[in-house]
Parts: sequence; structure tokens; C-alpha cells
Amino acid sequence: MICSEYTLESEALCTDCRKKLRPCGNSFYLCHNEEKYLVWSVFYYSNIVKELIIRLKYKSDFMCGEILAKHMLEFVKSNKLQFDLIAYVPMTKKSQKSRGYNQSEFLANYLSRFLNIPVICNLIKTMDTKDQIGLSGEDRWSNMEKCFEVKENKFMQNKNILIVDDVITTGATAFHCASKLKESGINNVCILTIAKSKV
Ligand SMILES: [Zn+2]
Repeated sequence: MICSEYTLESEALCTDCRKKLRPCGNSFYLCHNEEKYLVWSVFYYSNIVKELIIRLKYKSDFMCGEILAKHMLEFVKSNKLQFDLIAYVPMTKKSQKSRGYNQSEFLANYLSRFLNIPVICNLIKTMDTKDQIGLSGEDRWSNMEKCFEVKENKFMQNKNILIVDDVITTGATAFHCASKLKESGINNVCILTIAKSKV
């Protein structure tokens, strides 16, 4: 559990809470159908990170969001990640309307503000991915391909893009977003998430 002190000190957890964070140092490649994309995660999905993400995602707790975003920003700087544009994993119009915001967009905007790199909002989610019960493994992967679209934009031709998301589990969502961007003329796509969860 996060103690209540995080609200007192702006954008930071107390020392005890910070000790519970488990940094995830290594990147890995998300590979499928001969495509591969480099993925970085700031933390492992330990209880405290899970709680911060849940508060950002479902409870409109943007203080927790800023704590996470700040760690993400520090990760980008210390690992010297290079990119020209920032994208984020989109939600369907319907889901975004009911939540009121997209937590990944929040993270992307924070990075953009401090790195002075623009956010590009042309990834679109056309279908919700929840209705995949009954589909397993490979079907789930390929079925998800139909959920995302890219609105093409000349500005992004040959650019390097970082896709931001909260948690990576199987990587199917991030993969398809990356793949759609790559298809539309992007030079290189990498993925950065707050947390890496076990499958
Ligand atoms: Zn604390």
C-alpha cells in the first residue's frame, strides 16, 4: 500500500514507498511475424506500482499519475532514449468517454512537456479488445490487429516514434500499435511502459 504521504510532497513518494519500487533495468524485443520492436519498462509490476497505476487509471488520481510520469521522464533521460515523436496506446471513443481521459495519453503529454517533443495522436482504436474470451494465443494476437488504425500524416514519415503505455503484459496491444505505425512510414518504433507484468 502507498502511505498517504505522497500527497504532501509534490510528485514524489516517501522514502519507504520508494524502496518498494522495483526498477526494471533491461529492455527486450517484442517479436511477432518477423517484426520486432524494442520495449523498455521503468518498473516491474510490484504491488506499489500496481496501486499507483490503478489510481491513475480508474480513480482520476493525477498526483499518482505525475509520480509515475516523473519516473518515466527520468528513465528516458538516464537511458538516453532518442525519438522525434511520442505516441500513446489509444482507447476507443466509447471507453475514453466513460473514463474521461486516457492514462497513456496523460503520460505521453507529461513527457512531451518536459522533453519538448510533440505528441502525435493519430493512432486510433476502433474496437474494444475485451471481447476476446474464447480466443486463445495466436487468435487473440491476430484478432487484435483489427482494433487499431493509423491516420496517416506526412509529418511522421521517416520519424522515430516512442509509444507510451502503462503496463505491458503479453505485448499484443503495443505490438499492433507499433506495427500499424511502422506500416504507415515510420522509420523506427520503440515502446516504453511504466511497468512490465508477467504473462
Ligand atoms: Zn510512503
